[in-house]
Amino acid sequence: MRLENRTAIVTGAASGIGRAIAERFAAEGAKVAIADVAIGAAEEAAAAITAKGGTAIAVAMDVADEAAVNGGVAQVVEAWGRLDIAVSNAGIQIVHPVEEFSFAEWKRMLAIHLDGAFLLTRAAIPHMYSQKHGRIIYMGSVHSKTASLLKAPYITAKHGLLGLTRAVAREGAPKGVTANLVAPGFVLTQLVRKQIPEQAATLGISEDEVVRKVMLKDTADGEFTTVDDIADVTLFFAAYPNAALTGQSLIASHGWHME
Ligand code: NAD
Repeated sequence: MRLENRTAIVTGAASGIGRAIAERFAAEGAKVAIADVAIGAAEEAAAAITAKGGTAIAVAMDVADEAAVNGGVAQVVEAWGRLDIAVSNAGIQIVHPVEEFSFAEWKRMLAIHLDGAFLLTRAAIPHMYSQKHGRIIYMGSVHSKTASLLKAPYITAKHGLLGLTRAVAREGAPKGVTANLVAPGFVLTQLVRKQIPEQAATLGISEDEVVRKVMLKDTADGEFTTVDDIADVTLFFAAYPNAALTGQSLIASHGWHME
């Protein structure tokens, strides 16, 4: 059990990558808060962990809402007395050519991905400082490192998270807090399934071509990354014992992006 006596909050943990991370953390002994706007699905995810003998609660949270993030983190600390791990994972995707994005769509993307990461960090880090232990993990993307078509605000936000990772890593290390970023390639979650027909329509190609010629074309083996792969990498950062690993980003993308 690599996370015994640890508590964690994972945003966007009602489904996809976040849910797999929450399940992995719970299997490693952590108490896990499933924070999500989709409260019904979050409750279901927490119940599934509890049914397997783990400890989990659902927390209603829109990560772009300052009061909701502060309230959710306070709820976790009240329930368990400490907060060791915060995973900023909640995210959405909107795809258009840059000139077709409305200003409202642009701001919504940055609010969820960047404001959400800042708000979670700011709410969690004082508790981590007082314990002299904390692990903050941001869900970046291969799009933290490179660009592809139709995703200007997402790419901008995911690059921005690298800056936040490094800033928090500098400030946090003397007080026992590390900050790292996980950069997945394409993972077949609802977020990606939704893009396949959208990209097919925008690019005028078939859905199969979107998968083979757009999403996976630069991977070394033509494979999707899985939610379990990303849970493994996130656990690695969460359980790492010291700040030898801080301010880092780890790409798990079947070789799509190499550096
Ligand atoms: P998903 O759609 O399966 O899960 C996202 C979760 O976030 C959902 O449960 C949703 O309800 C929640 N959410 C959305 N907006 C929210 C908000 N404002 N406040 C709180 N919760 C909110 O998507 P996923 O693929 O698991 O994505 C999770 C993270 O991984 C995102 O940050 C995404 O950008 C990143 N990512 C995904 C992929 C991929 O290929 N799927 C690749 C790289 C990075």
